[in-house]
Amino acid sequence: MPDRTCIACRNKGNANNFFRMVIGPERNIVCELGRKLPGRGAHCCFDMNCISKLVSSNRLEIALKRRNFRIGSDELSRNVKMLLRRNLKGMLIASKAKGVLTLGKEEVFKKIKLSKMGKPFVSKDISPRILMSLKRMSEEFHILPFSMNELGEFLSRKPFGVLFISEPLLVDSICLRMMHERAMSNG
Ligand SMILES: [Zn+2]
Repeated sequence: MPDRTCIACRNKGNANNFFRMVIGPERNIVCELGRKLPGRGAHCCFDMNCISKLVSSNRLEIALKRRNFRIGSDELSRNVKMLLRRNLKGMLIASKAKGVLTLGKEEVFKKIKLSKMGKPFVSKDISPRILMSLKRMSEEFHILPFSMNELGEFLSRKPFGVLFISEPLLVDSICLRMMHERAMSNG
């Protein structure tokens, strides 16, 4: 995959580490993960400092070779966070469709004992008691940016807080997006 450059900090890297911006029909900035939107685009890190730098400088104007578009750092970061959450949600749904997702505490605890490959994930509002028992069983687990209710909404019929994904590639992609989501929320 070709390298991309953040127009704010000039860091280079794999396309997965940046979001892309183009000018939309209403002269607003439209963001995407990946590269589907037509037209001249510019890339930026998942980083609030880079976003602020973009908004307060003319780097985006230069990169897009356009002037007079609307841009605000709040709107931009909100949109990027939404894209990341949608992407994460899509990957969790895909894990379920592929049959590599296990839901619910009891089943996940069994899975941790049996599977060397996958990783457990929990909702952001998991109870401290379940978190404690999970910590005793697994040295590595990840807190998703979704509540039990949200997970229940798109993965199951009822809320739940613990899940396990047994495919390492999906675990890696989900962890990467979670890292981006956290970086955007810490700004
Ligand atoms: Zn950057």
